[in-house]
Amino acid sequence: MTFDKILGHDRQKDILRRALANGRLAHAYLFAGPDGIGKRMLAIELARAIVCHEQRGCGNCPACRKIDNQNHPDLHTLEPDGTSIKIEKVRAFQRELNLKPLEAPRKICLIDHAEMMTTGASNALLKTLEEPRGDTLLILLTDQPNRLLDTIRSRCQILPFTRHPNSRIQAELEKRLELNPTEAHVLAALSDGSFKKAFGKDRELYLEQRKTLLKTLTGLSTGSILQMLEFAEQISADKAILPDILEIFQAFYRDVLTTLHGRDTDELVNLDLKEKIFRVASKESIPGILTKLEALMTAQRQLDRNVNRQLAMEVMLLDLTA
Ligand SMILES: [Zn+2]
Repeated sequence: MTFDKILGHDRQKDILRRALANGRLAHAYLFAGPDGIGKRMLAIELARAIVCHEQRGCGNCPACRKIDNQNHPDLHTLEPDGTSIKIEKVRAFQRELNLKPLEAPRKICLIDHAEMMTTGASNALLKTLEEPRGDTLLILLTDQPNRLLDTIRSRCQILPFTRHPNSRIQAELEKRLELNPTEAHVLAALSDGSFKKAFGKDRELYLEQRKTLLKTLTGLSTGSILQMLEFAEQISADKAILPDILEIFQAFYRDVLTTLHGRDTDELVNLDLKEKIFRVASKESIPGILTKLEALMTAQRQLDRNVNRQLAMEVMLLDLTA
């Protein structure tokens, strides 16, 4: 049995491997942990191992290939429509579950973002969990296990997943994207332990434009109103990347704060901008930086509420240069 395609999560893989080998899989699992760290991938690998003609998720047999092509008749997935999973969808799902598996020894049902089930949907699913059938396996995925009903949680075997360490993400970025260690470090540090985030980051923005953006930001002074207005206009032009730009600014000021606290430089995100960080830190105080980080968070909240972007950026830059 191999789960080699999935990085990390060794304990969780071990538990599943052993359960598979002994024929003692639970009727329902709850994979709980942050988004983008491989929960769904592991669930799919488990499904492959179950349906595989060689019983190991070989990847080559017709059953494995059907899983990969998302057309295996015994793998069912349930996902939110927008922000919720409604009762009608759970009911339709249950009608499927009541039929015998067509090709595999079990029907495998994946519920992604299970916390988005409405109360009605959760109560409906509870019936399935209370009367498990030997030929079904439910895998619930969630990043917010506390939002699930207690009664649902207690009927699943819970496998907690944790974020990947930055060093692991950095190593993968270096290997797969051929980034240099500093670039890989910056992306890894900004990815909250998520491979998905790390690989999904706009590299042009985070690696190249980051330096120019921070140069302009730190070059602004209280008196340069015109320059500030131009910069506000520039960064607010593209609604889609503005949150990323704020994330870059935030990471920079957190680096300055780390420096002011006298912590190790290994903890910095912007390892390639140490001198700039030290220079800014020499002119700043801890309360001053905390105020700036607060201004960035306020701006972020305002963007979430769809306020005028440019105005929000002007106010934020005024606070950042105060
Ligand atoms: Zn196979």
